[in-house]
Amino acid sequence: MAKKTIEDVVLKNKKVLMRCDFNVPLNEKLEITDDRRITESLPSIRKVLKEQGALILCSHLGRPKGGAAPEFSLKPVAQRLSELLGLPVRMADECIGPEVEQLKKDLKSGQVLLLENLRFHKEEEKNDPAFAQALAKGCDLFVNDAFGTAHRAHASTEGINHYFKENVAGYLIQKELKYLDEAINKPKRPLLAILGGAKISGKIDVIKNLFAKVDGILLGGGMIFTFYKAKGMEIGKSLVEEDRIEMAKAILDEAKQKSIALHLPEDVVIAETFDNNAKHKVVTVDKIEPAWMGLDIGPATIEKFVKEIHQAKTVVWNGPMGAFEMSNFAIGTRKIAQALADTTGKGAITVVGGGDSAAAISDFGLDEKITHISTGGGASLEFLEGKVLPGIAALSEK
Ligand code: AMP
Repeated sequence: MAKKTIEDVVLKNKKVLMRCDFNVPLNEKLEITDDRRITESLPSIRKVLKEQGALILCSHLGRPKGGAAPEFSLKPVAQRLSELLGLPVRMADECIGPEVEQLKKDLKSGQVLLLENLRFHKEEEKNDPAFAQALAKGCDLFVNDAFGTAHRAHASTEGINHYFKENVAGYLIQKELKYLDEAINKPKRPLLAILGGAKISGKIDVIKNLFAKVDGILLGGGMIFTFYKAKGMEIGKSLVEEDRIEMAKAILDEAKQKSIALHLPEDVVIAETFDNNAKHKVVTVDKIEPAWMGLDIGPATIEKFVKEIHQAKTVVWNGPMGAFEMSNFAIGTRKIAQALADTTGKGAITVVGGGDSAAAISDFGLDEKITHISTGGGASLEFLEGKVLPGIAALSEK
């Protein structure tokens, strides 16, 4: 890795500020329903504690509207982290200010302090320099381990780096970059990309960037109907982005020109309404009826896609194949997830972008059978688009 990492610096007796992504899902009782983002941060946390650094953790949680709100407090995270570490985790009521400065000063080597939600201050998302400076105050070294927010230029991911001599990557960022970079830039071939999800607009730049890198692309999800519309086909009431039809046309033309294996489904599951109990049936894509909508890929497509997956040595997947939250339209997504798990078992490298595809893998209990599941949906997508992630660009060079 070109950037300095937590392995490259002395941590002993240092006040170490670490940005984590503790943006965990909470239920109505404010209980954590999935602690993966906390457990994924443990290697970096344990490293600092083992090396006798004094650890100050910070993160955002949810989208509070620029002020403190108890439902977005990081207190449940402090409690869970304390259980996982078997150590007390002190919780600050704020993330900046005189009280926090005193807590930082009093913190001893081997102890942990968690600051309150960074987004209780609107300055965080504005990358405000004074806020970044206040956050850095009293700390000697900055570790960024928040891959999930690395694509955002916020005060705690970008601005903060200007107030330290050394800014280094934690183990999670290292791991995420290793898998994503190897899959895209140094893959075992053939490299296959599978893209799905609701909208074509969020995936256009990914498709374009991947054209130069992959051996094949499979498309599913709601976005396929904009492509069919671009081909002049009937798509009924299926999801469509009218303002992206020209773009879809251009992508199809480019794929043809460059002889890129871009596969659209040949059959789909259509339904009368967007409802799990709606009447539904399988049709070939040229038989979508005007009053119906496509909500999943069909069995012939599944068979073809599964075959493609088994022929690949590296597979990158982002976005569900259908409206998978409804069980009747989850089959395509489940079969693709299962095919990824099976091919991983036979030695292929499989990398799943965060968000809905990661949730689907989890729902199907296949987490352990995939090479790497990213903790960052947006960040991994921007990586696949070939963009520079500001939170990583700002770290010290080796
Ligand atoms: P995205 O955030 O773009 O990755 O989209 C994920 C969402 O796309 C999920 O909530 C799916 O339910 C939805 N989705 C996938 N396929 C379809 C479809 N054919 N029609 C409507 N929504 C879909």
